[in-house]
Amino acid sequence: MLDQNTNRPELPSEIARRRTFAIISHPDAGKTTLTEKFLLFGGAIQMAGQVRAKGEARRTRSDFMQMEKDRGISVSASAMSFDFAKYRYNLVDTPGHSDFSEDTYRTLTAVDAAIMVIDGAKGVESQTRKLFEVCRLRDLPILTFCNKMDRESRDTFDIIDEIQQNLAIDVTPASWPIGVGSDFLGCYDLINDRLELMDRADRNKRGESVVLNGLDDPLMEKHIPAAQLEQLREEVAMARELLPALDPQSVLEGHLSPIWFGSAINSFGVKELMEGIAAYAPQPQILRAESRQVAPEESKVTGFVFKVQANMDPKHRDRVAFVRLASGHFERGMKLLHVRSKKQMAVANPVLFLAADREVTEEAWAGDIIGIPNHGQLRIGDALTEGEALRFTGIPSFAPELLQACRAGDPLKAKHLDKALLQFAEEGAAKVFKPAFGSGFVVGVVGQLQFEVLASRIEMEYGLPVRFEPSQFTSARWVQGSQAAVDAFAAANKQHMATDSDGDPVFMTRLQWDIDRVARDYPDVKLTATKEML
Ligand code: GDP
Repeated sequence: MLDQNTNRPELPSEIARRRTFAIISHPDAGKTTLTEKFLLFGGAIQMAGQVRAKGEARRTRSDFMQMEKDRGISVSASAMSFDFAKYRYNLVDTPGHSDFSEDTYRTLTAVDAAIMVIDGAKGVESQTRKLFEVCRLRDLPILTFCNKMDRESRDTFDIIDEIQQNLAIDVTPASWPIGVGSDFLGCYDLINDRLELMDRADRNKRGESVVLNGLDDPLMEKHIPAAQLEQLREEVAMARELLPALDPQSVLEGHLSPIWFGSAINSFGVKELMEGIAAYAPQPQILRAESRQVAPEESKVTGFVFKVQANMDPKHRDRVAFVRLASGHFERGMKLLHVRSKKQMAVANPVLFLAADREVTEEAWAGDIIGIPNHGQLRIGDALTEGEALRFTGIPSFAPELLQACRAGDPLKAKHLDKALLQFAEEGAAKVFKPAFGSGFVVGVVGQLQFEVLASRIEMEYGLPVRFEPSQFTSARWVQGSQAAVDAFAAANKQHMATDSDGDPVFMTRLQWDIDRVARDYPDVKLTATKEML
């Protein structure tokens, strides 16, 4: 969706100071800890410990799913905003589990950059690689944070080499670690020629920073033992010779990733990373819509829904639609056109997720993520504008890879099942198909775990026990073509037909052979595995 990766000085300063990004990482690499420290430095909280405590309190409040707690996975994406120096950071949380790749993909349509967090001992892990590939599809600029340097970690050159080889991206050090494990002293900041020393005594305090006149400054000897200093000088000389220079344009184009080394838990390297995001991650970008491009500085407000989260507060059956503002200056109470329904919508209570709490916001700018509470009108992919019939492109819906039939445990409550499933379909948590023949629903997901998540949510939010059972179908494809061609096709293949939650025709089968047969026998229709969300 992002088209232009250049920072533009002519942007209004409120927009120019925004950085909207996501963190991609393998579970356990330190995403949560790093997020806490961002908030700590962002002044959103007094002590990092509070985030976890607050986070837990919040989770209990929005405890729509025991599983999230039990398994320690984060199923729902949300957004947090904080300020640091003169910048406004919008961090969009990506769901951590590999089963939620579609959700993650859509989340990444709402950001301008990604921070890749890796564990210094483990390097590039499977989930990091997958998420990286998604970022690559969109040429997102990627900044890297190599975490846990306070523990035994790999050789610095090895880590850099592994990223370059494994992910096919150039890497350049923004900082260089001094010592490893218990001998880890800190980093040499290659951008600012500063020595950053880690404070092991106070984990919430940033360590000492020594301004130097290059690596040969005699002051270095005061802080670093001779042997380590010699190694540092050698390594940095080698790195400067062998690795690419930090070219901001290459970073913006997604070809080069600067890497910072640090220890999130010790608050070390975090501030440098934040400064790095300000300096090297892009400002709000130009986004693509169907008929034209939308520039952030346009005076009229536009935005699109990339995520819907239901039942964040079980006491209120509300849903929050997360909207990425693509352009303009939004003010509370504004009336916006909901393009899909062609209806005006007064946005009276937009929420900005500041730190761990959600607060009503008076204003927001292009680049920001606002939450709009609603009763189900807003769906993923929807556009909001000041009147123009825009449609943002690039928010795909994928054919599910796993299909199961869903039945209510209590037949008397079967009616409620319709409602629950429709809600999850709107949230983008599952695909729901109503077969033309027979009763019940076929539910499609991308990963097996999602069935359990759904069953647990339906029971918790609707008091309705459900069973997922093997379906006679294993694949679903959207049917596209002229109305007459699709109608003729549907009439001839009734036993395979279903409709999705938008009422669009879907062909279901258990055989790849069937899909090939359609391609052969019905040249006028196309079976597709993705559909652009309208
Ligand atoms: P996430 O799964 O990526 O969100 O990872 P967490 O932030 O929950 O961290 C996983 C584990 O690594 C936790 O036990 C953290 O305390 C620990 N951890 C995080 N950062 C560091 C670090 O810099 N050094 C060390 N030694 N442990 C860390």
